[in-house]
Amino acid sequence: MSVVESVDVLIIGAGPSGAIAAALLVKKGYSVRVLEKETFPRFSIGESLLPQCMQYIEEAGMMDAVQAGGFQFKCGAAFLFNGRYTEFDFRDKFSPGWGTTFQIERARFDTILADEAARMGADVRFRHEITGVDVSGDKPSVTYRDADDVEHTMQAKFLLDASGFGRVLPRLLDLHVPSDFPVRQSVFTHITGLSDSDWYDSNKILITIHPKHRDVWFWLIPLGGGKASIGVVARVEFFDNYEGEPKDVLKTIYAEEPQLSSLLVDAEYNFPARKITGYSASVKSLYGKNYTLLGNAGEFLDPVFSSGVTIAMRSASMAAALLDRQLQGEEIDWESEFSIPLKKGVETFRTFVTAWYDQPFQNVIMHDLQQREMAATGSGPANVRAMISSILAGYAWDEANPYVKDSKRRLSVLAELCRQTTDG
Ligand code: FAD
Repeated sequence: MSVVESVDVLIIGAGPSGAIAAALLVKKGYSVRVLEKETFPRFSIGESLLPQCMQYIEEAGMMDAVQAGGFQFKCGAAFLFNGRYTEFDFRDKFSPGWGTTFQIERARFDTILADEAARMGADVRFRHEITGVDVSGDKPSVTYRDADDVEHTMQAKFLLDASGFGRVLPRLLDLHVPSDFPVRQSVFTHITGLSDSDWYDSNKILITIHPKHRDVWFWLIPLGGGKASIGVVARVEFFDNYEGEPKDVLKTIYAEEPQLSSLLVDAEYNFPARKITGYSASVKSLYGKNYTLLGNAGEFLDPVFSSGVTIAMRSASMAAALLDRQLQGEEIDWESEFSIPLKKGVETFRTFVTAWYDQPFQNVIMHDLQQREMAATGSGPANVRAMISSILAGYAWDEANPYVKDSKRRLSVLAELCRQTTDG
């Protein structure tokens, strides 16, 4: 009779959520196996981090390795719309914590995290693809194909799905729920030869609103040494107006924004362009008997505020702490201790994402010049700016911030105020 291998915790996927969870759990003394279907380094999208995620990198003991990676420094977010440029410096924020972070090539960044988890004692296996799961017994078991295409089964006391857009458990356990956002598509690539400019600070991600279509936006993420990630996001039908390969489509759409294009005059498009469609998704439940979903395997909102990796790492940190208590014999209420508090921050981001595409939040952001003038006189908006800056920096769970605690109402009042002062 063949012996079925067993570990304390089995993690599906070695992306940011899987690697952080693995490190936190091995540090507590648990046996952890990570099964990752790809070979690292591998390309992944999600290259602009938020300062809040530095807390989880630090907690996992990976900060030295990340800092040694020499990634592009990031201290804020800049926005451009029809010649109007405004920026938020994350160091001027309401919530305590990190005010700076990095812009990263995920191939290298994810490799550093996975290698660190392995160095700390996690058993990370690449080219191991999960193909089946059974959560009906006392211990969950998974079926996977190894690098030689041989199928195996193994058990764990607990299963963490960190499979990102692979969404392994949502698919296998029929947990998938479509997002209430419209289906959007993104086309993106890397370029070299990013031009210097006197109007744009390359220590910030640049988000540009399309001059004619306000629900279409571009990102520019400098990666250091003149290299940058560029991409455009729009409803899927918007792209029907453009013909050709993704690279040509991207060039044509970027050419529609003259100021942004000025940064790309010397750009060389020598990397493949890719597209991804319908990435927003949710699930019926973030947990079940002896399993929990992390990061994108649970929910992905939208790329506009670069919140994906932060949510992924936060979910890993929360789940690892709860799992430690559960494995020590405590009964954990995953609804009240994991799902509800995690979703609180996700809902904050959702409010801002919705208000971005519906435009009130774009108006608030582009109202910046006036706010800055008022801030200089010491009146209230400086504080409001710091509160908004906190959310853009990823501090979407800090209920001391009124724009977290009461985000919908606060944002709608602010949008109305900006509208009145613009009209007046
Ligand atoms: P992932 O990083 O996707 O890792 C999952 C891992 O699981 C992968 O390595 C995969 O190979 C593995 N896997 C999948 N299936 C299996 C299987 N069957 N068996 C074994 N392994 C498997 N986020 C940001 O923070 N900043 C950004 O600027 C940003 N930009 C984005 C732009 C776009 C267009 C999109 C769509 C997303 C963006 N995101 C961004 C979101 C970001 O990509 C994700 O939120 C983040 O990568 C989620 O991390 P994760 O650990 O949950 O999953």
